[in-house]
Amino acid sequence: MNLLKQIPKVDKVLGWEGIQTLLENHPRPVVIRAVRTALENLRNRALRQEGERAQFTEEAILEQIGREIGSLSARKLKRLVNGTGVVIHTNLGRSPLPERIREALDEVAFGYSNLEFDLASGERGSRYAHVEEILCELTGAEAALVVNNNAAAVLLALSSLAAGREVIVSRGELVEIGGSFRIPDVMRQSGAILREVGATNRTHPGDYSAAVTQDTGLLLKVHCSNFAVVGFTAEVSAEQLVELGKQHALPVLADVGSGNLVELSRRLGCNEPTVQEFVDAGVDVITFSGDKLLGGPQAGIIIGRKALLAPMKKHPLLRAVRIDKLTLAALEGTLQLYRDERQALQEIPTLRMLTVPLEELADKAKRIAAELQKVVRGNVQLSLVEGFSQVGGGALPLLQLPTVLIAIAAGTMSAQEIEQTMRLSPVPVIGRIFKGAFLLDPRTILEEDIPALTAALQGMNP
Ligand SMILES: *Cc1c(COP(=O)(O)O)cnc(C)c1O
Repeated sequence: MNLLKQIPKVDKVLGWEGIQTLLENHPRPVVIRAVRTALENLRNRALRQEGERAQFTEEAILEQIGREIGSLSARKLKRLVNGTGVVIHTNLGRSPLPERIREALDEVAFGYSNLEFDLASGERGSRYAHVEEILCELTGAEAALVVNNNAAAVLLALSSLAAGREVIVSRGELVEIGGSFRIPDVMRQSGAILREVGATNRTHPGDYSAAVTQDTGLLLKVHCSNFAVVGFTAEVSAEQLVELGKQHALPVLADVGSGNLVELSRRLGCNEPTVQEFVDAGVDVITFSGDKLLGGPQAGIIIGRKALLAPMKKHPLLRAVRIDKLTLAALEGTLQLYRDERQALQEIPTLRMLTVPLEELADKAKRIAAELQKVVRGNVQLSLVEGFSQVGGGALPLLQLPTVLIAIAAGTMSAQEIEQTMRLSPVPVIGRIFKGAFLLDPRTILEEDIPALTAALQGMNP
C-alpha cells in the first residue's frame, strides 16, 4: 500500500520538467496517453506487490513514459523475418516484391502519374489498360482486367456472368479458402444460384449435362488450392468442361487460385497447371491472385474472352473492387519480369525461394548459422537439421520441399520461450517449433534480413 502512495497524479507528472522536453518532441495527446499508461502499469505493479521502490522515482517514471511514447509512435505494420519456411504465408504478407520494381513503385507513389490519363490523345484513359496488353501477351488471352484481389475477381465475374442464373460446379470444388472466402457464400453474394453436382470425390461430365436447364448461366471450375482429394477420385478436366460448354452454349469460368505463369510442375515435381494451359484449353474466363505463385502484389486478375470481359469493365461492382495505383505499378513491374522466364525465376522472390536447389539452401543455412554463431552467448547451441518447407498460400498443400533447417537451443529456455523472444524482437523473427526445437528455415529468410536475425538472437539472454 505504501507504494501506491508513491504514484503521482497525471497533472503533477505533466508539470515535471522532464515532461516539457517530451512535449517539445511529441504530440501532446501521445505524451498524455503515455503518462496514463505508465502510471496505470505502476499502479498494477503496486497492487500485485511486485513493485520495487526504485521504479517509483521521478527519474524511473520518466523513463517508462519515454518507453511508452516509443511504442505508441512505432509503426504497427512492420517488416519481419519469415523463418517459417512457408513461402506464400498469408499472415506474413504473402509474396515479397522483386527488388527490380522498387523504382517503378517509387515513381508512381511519390509523384503524379498517367493512372487514368491517355497520353496519346490527352483524354481520360483507363487504369486497367496499363497491364492488359502484357497479361494477354503472357497468357494468350484476348482481354484482361485487374481488381483488388482474387476474391473480388471471382465475385465480379460471377455477378457479371451469372447473376440470377444457375452456376454448375462440382461438389468436390466447393472450397473454403480461409478468411471466410467460401465458394457457396461468394456465389450467393453475386446473385448467382449454386447448382452443385457430383459427389465429394468424383464428378463426371454427365453430371454437368444432367444439371443443365434453361436457367443455367455458367459452368464453374474452382482450383482446390488448400486441400487435395486423393484415392478414388474423378475430376472433370478444363478441356472436358469447355467441350460441355460448347455443347450447351454456356461460358466456362475457372478460378485457378494461385496464378502460376511459369512451368513449375516439372521444377517442383508436382502437378500445378499454368494459367496458359487453361487459356489453351479454351476456358472462357479465368481468375487468379497476384500475390500467390505469381509473386506480385495483392491483386485479382481476370483474363478471357473480350466479349465476356467487356460487361465486367462496365459493371458497378468494378469501382468497389478497383485496384490502386501502387498495386498497379507493382503488378506491371512483376509481370514485365515474366517476359523472360529465367529472369522471372531469378528475380521474383516467391519463385526463387520455391525453386532454389537444395545444395544452395544447405550452403545458406551454414552461412547464416556461422553469422549467428559469432554473436551468441555460450549456452546457445546452433545445429543444422534436415526438414521440409511448404509452398503455402493455398497452393500445393501436399508438396514438401526438402530444406536444411537451423535449430536453436538455449540453455534452460524452452522452444516456446525462444520462439517468443525472437517474435518480440525489435525486428520480429518468426520461426516454428517442431518436436520441442525452435527452427528457422533459410528458404524464406531474405539476404537483407540476416542482420536483423543476428540482432534478434544477440538480444536473447538465456
Ligand atoms: C486464394 C484463392 C482465392 C482468394 O484469392 P485472394 O487473392 O486471396 O482474394 C480464391 N480462389 C482460390 C481457388 C484461391 O486459391
